[in-house]
Amino acid sequence: MVIGGGAAGIGAAGGAKAANKATEVVVYTEFEDAAYSPCGIPYVHGKEIPDFDRLFLAGKEAYVEAGIDIHYNTKVDAIDLARHTVKVDGEGDVGWDRLVIGTGFDYADPGVPGSDLDGLYYVKNIRRAMEWDKIIDQAKVAVVVEASPLGLEMVTALAHRGIETHVIDPHPWALAEAADPDIAAPVEESWAEMGVKMHWNTRLEAFVDDGQGHVRAVRTSEGELPADLVVVCTKKEPRNDLAAAAGIEIGSTGGIVVDERMATSEPGVWAAGDCIEVPHGVSNIPLQGLSGSHAYSQGKVAGTNAAGGNRSYQPVYVPWGMVAGKWMIGGVSFGETLATALGIPFVLGKAQGISRARYYPDMKKIIVKLLAEPGSLRLIGAQMVGGEGIKERADFLAMAVKVGITLTDLAWMENVYSPPIGALNEPIALAAQNALANLK
Ligand SMILES: Cc1cc2nc3c(=O)[nH]c(=O)nc-3n(C[C@H](O)[C@H](O)[C@H](O)COP(=O)(O)OP(=O)(O)OC[C@H]3O[C@@H](n4cnc5c(N)ncnc54)[C@H](O)[C@@H]3O)c2cc1C
Repeated sequence: MVIGGGAAGIGAAGGAKAANKATEVVVYTEFEDAAYSPCGIPYVHGKEIPDFDRLFLAGKEAYVEAGIDIHYNTKVDAIDLARHTVKVDGEGDVGWDRLVIGTGFDYADPGVPGSDLDGLYYVKNIRRAMEWDKIIDQAKVAVVVEASPLGLEMVTALAHRGIETHVIDPHPWALAEAADPDIAAPVEESWAEMGVKMHWNTRLEAFVDDGQGHVRAVRTSEGELPADLVVVCTKKEPRNDLAAAAGIEIGSTGGIVVDERMATSEPGVWAAGDCIEVPHGVSNIPLQGLSGSHAYSQGKVAGTNAAGGNRSYQPVYVPWGMVAGKWMIGGVSFGETLATALGIPFVLGKAQGISRARYYPDMKKIIVKLLAEPGSLRLIGAQMVGGEGIKERADFLAMAVKVGITLTDLAWMENVYSPPIGALNEPIALAAQNALANLK
């Protein structure tokens, strides 16, 4: 039995079937659908993707054919570990032999007056997104609360759609918990060009009622911002209520504690996705609320093992990347700001390179920053901003951190030079060479 029809739950269901075709797999989800990509929703709102239909990855019949029994619109209310049952809305007590919990995340409660007003949009369920898209059509002014990864996407989408867009965030720059200020700066410049109004170092104080239960403004530490629509992009918090109530161990982040096989503290119970915590490969600090790709792979491991297979999940190095404004930003593990905050010593190299041959049309700049451990010079983190090619570099650098590649290796790495897709000098190599030169 799988609780959750998101990336983790669907990964687990598929993993269980692949490990043992004879396994009966039942999935419960509160939503009307499974197998759609929530990740595409901001891009439909931004009109880069023409319609929501494209975000459905498989029809309901595909699961029936695969022998996966999905119960849609069905909430699980409790887990009984002693009796190996769950209490299901409308179905009563239902038994399981093995259980995978993939209950995911909720956006953190903004914790201010007016959080229950109409006009506050928490982007998640695709059916609600379809309804909100019509409301967005009517909006003239929108406020995005917090420049989180989703916040960056929604600011860009709303501005692209021609809506007067404000973003408020208590930090001094965009995506401040992940990105360094020099990496976020080009994004902010391009937002300014798009007409986005940025309110940094600004605390949310209240959502203001129009007298009819609808938001009319956002009150902040810097004053009141009128708003037809507010998109709440607060931190992703683990939905751990079912697991915690059942007595399953919860960690310091609020995520369910699992071992490398995604097994919880309770025999016969696995967990995966945004409701769990996993260790960071460099710092060993537990992390929660990573990404859809992490959730899906963890789900696969959990489902495989629950059905009698044997797979393990490795500590994470967290390659990340996204489009914000007209730039792509991304990185691996830590930037300068986060490493400093965590007290992790590092040596640094930074370079600006180019994405294609200098003479090739549409060549874009790429800025790369590399962080390495002093002494060994092993890579421990990276930050990037550029016009293209950020995702591939983030994936490569995450693997480089994982296997212990050094700045010296990177400084003299081989690279592809082909005018339309790569320049003679690879920006990663330039950053590593600069780091070595700084050391001298
Ligand atoms: C708008 C948006 C954009 C995103 N963009 C990206 C992106 O660009 N890249 C990326 O990698 N990831 C992206 N994500 C993925 C996201 O950030 C998460 O990491 C991912 O959704 C986690 O998957 P999950 O299955 O753990 O949890 P969730 O997606 O939260 O799914 C949880 C599931 O559990 C079900 N559930 C919870 N409690 C119960 C219960 N009691 N009973 C029954 N069912 C229950 C829910 O109905 C749901 O099906 C995006 C998500 C959203 C919403």
